[in-house]
Amino acid sequence: MNLQKGGMWRNWVGNQYCVSQFKAAPETEEELRELVREADKRDIGVRVSGSGHSFTPVVGTSGALLSLANLRGVQKIDRDRKQITVAGGTRINEVGKTLKQHGLSLINQGDIDSQAVAGAFTTGTHGTGLKLGNMASSIAGMRIVTANGDVLDIDGSDKDLLHAAQVSVGSLGVISAMTLNVMDAYNLHEKLWRDDFETCMERHDELAAQHRHFGFFWCPTPESRHLYCLPDTAAVSSTDKLADVCEMKVMDVTDAAPMESEFEKIAYSSEVYPIEYVPNFVELEYAVPLEHGKEAVRAVRELMLTKHTNCIYPIEYRFTAGDPAWMSPFYHQDSITLSVSGGPGIDYWPFLKDTDEILRRYNSRPHWGKMHFLDTQDVTDLYPRANDFRKLRRELDPKGRFLNDHIRMLLG
Ligand SMILES: Cc1cc2nc3c(=O)[nH]c(=O)nc-3n(C[C@H](O)[C@H](O)[C@H](O)COP(=O)(O)OP(=O)(O)OC[C@H]3O[C@@H](n4cnc5c(N)ncnc54)[C@H](O)[C@@H]3O)c2cc1C
Repeated sequence: MNLQKGGMWRNWVGNQYCVSQFKAAPETEEELRELVREADKRDIGVRVSGSGHSFTPVVGTSGALLSLANLRGVQKIDRDRKQITVAGGTRINEVGKTLKQHGLSLINQGDIDSQAVAGAFTTGTHGTGLKLGNMASSIAGMRIVTANGDVLDIDGSDKDLLHAAQVSVGSLGVISAMTLNVMDAYNLHEKLWRDDFETCMERHDELAAQHRHFGFFWCPTPESRHLYCLPDTAAVSSTDKLADVCEMKVMDVTDAAPMESEFEKIAYSSEVYPIEYVPNFVELEYAVPLEHGKEAVRAVRELMLTKHTNCIYPIEYRFTAGDPAWMSPFYHQDSITLSVSGGPGIDYWPFLKDTDEILRRYNSRPHWGKMHFLDTQDVTDLYPRANDFRKLRRELDPKGRFLNDHIRMLLG
């Protein structure tokens, strides 16, 4: 297979795009290796698109843009070790469907399941749960096609290499396959309701400790929940207020039979996690050290109620346990994640910048796939292993074949 004439690419929401000289969608790892070798001969950059759900410029290139949409599927299931190997382009929802058939489940998932596994896991994508790590923390191994077309097989015997690769934002090479730790299948019981903000804050610690998953959306106005397509929980609300309220969610493992009502659901894990969004927002999200979570959300709420009253998308607030991946936003740090969004028709940059300034006070680290304002020095200051990561990256890819301007600034 050869590189073909490229063209225009844009992400899910349309705030990032590029025009690449070449493109290709290999069907096998061997084809992928040939394409990377061809790019090396042509001396052009290579980037890979997953499903394009990142808001940041982590995909674009003027060189060769590869898609692994034809390199997908579950390749191996090891029931004894509770591990599965999936091709890099496999969508999370495809993994869920196969695992269900084999009596297994992913350990945790985020709000949507349409991303490609390599794209989602290696940007640090997470769900919620005080004791649950991000998705990358379940990566046990990887196959990466490196700059000269060789395959680097990471099997976990070299822990440093694994922890560097788990969150690497496409900067070490093209991930052709990943081995993931999974667990026995479980059903989840989801419950939704609405509390006023102070009730939510009072119950914050208790709900996080008592439930496998707890998270909420703080909605400044009655219209806010519509922007994220959240259901109207008035019937199960503990408050009469419609503004300055929290749309609450808990989920726990259950043996009870599947059921579904308006505000409660019991089903196989992967069928409960995802919610629906429409492409109408640009999101910023930072991982804030757990101990500063409540203070941080109060500060951003105040900012929205006083200065940026036209920014009415909900704040999403979740929990993620620390992990050892060098470039993970949760590196050795139990965290809450706080996200805000800007919507069409308003200049939301001053709001995102003010939110960044607040969250920086707590040494918060951004989600690589969501808007942030970090520069090279910030990354060095926030990530103790950043320079080790950059050194390893340069060893694997001395010519910077897999960098674009954005990734070069952060991780080059
Ligand atoms: C509606 C919506 C909901 C979201 N919900 C959540 C959530 O609940 N939790 C959360 O943490 N995040 C969430 N995100 C963010 C999202 O999970 C991440 O941005 C994720 O990286 C997107 O995956 P993708 O497959 O679209 O990857 P892309 O955005 O296409 O790519 C991400 C990065 O991975 C690289 N990459 C992709 N495939 C490969 C490969 N095979 N080899 C090497 N590098 C590769 C790309 O080059 C790029 O650097 C959400 C985003 C949206 C738009």
